[in-house]
Amino acid sequence: MPQGKEKKTHGILALAGLEPYQEKQGEEYMNDAQRAHFRRILEEWRRQLRQEVDRTVHHMKDEAANFPDPVDRAAQEEEFSIELRTRDRERKLIKKIEKTLQKIEDDDFGFCDSCGIEIGIRRLEARPTADLCVDCKTLAEMKEKQMTGA
Ligand SMILES: [Zn+2]
Repeated sequence: MPQGKEKKTHGILALAGLEPYQEKQGEEYMNDAQRAHFRRILEEWRRQLRQEVDRTVHHMKDEAANFPDPVDRAAQEEEFSIELRTRDRERKLIKKIEKTLQKIEDDDFGFCDSCGIEIGIRRLEARPTADLCVDCKTLAEMKEKQMTGA
């Protein structure tokens, strides 16, 4: 498949302005350097999310004008409810990031919550808050699909 001109960003890693972690040979999984790497990613991610939340709050305060026209008012309320949902999502994500940072502190980061194996650096760089390995995640999703009949 030909590569497009637009290079796919590396998601959160790019967002945090960091390069993928380069493992040295024989390096121990989740040593200090690796944990520091993920702490940086998570902290930068959280900082940007917090900014986003602040921005939304300010935006809503600025925009909270009283529209005499009920159509305008309805449109504004709709817009606000979308923003509130987004903010709610961001807040939950910030909580999850903080939980993950705590796991780094507790030396419990990077292992699957379900089976205990190493989640892996590349997977964690793509999804730093991942708490399941690929296999357990796939299994969990399959179960969820069965439950919801999707
Ligand atoms: Zn697992």
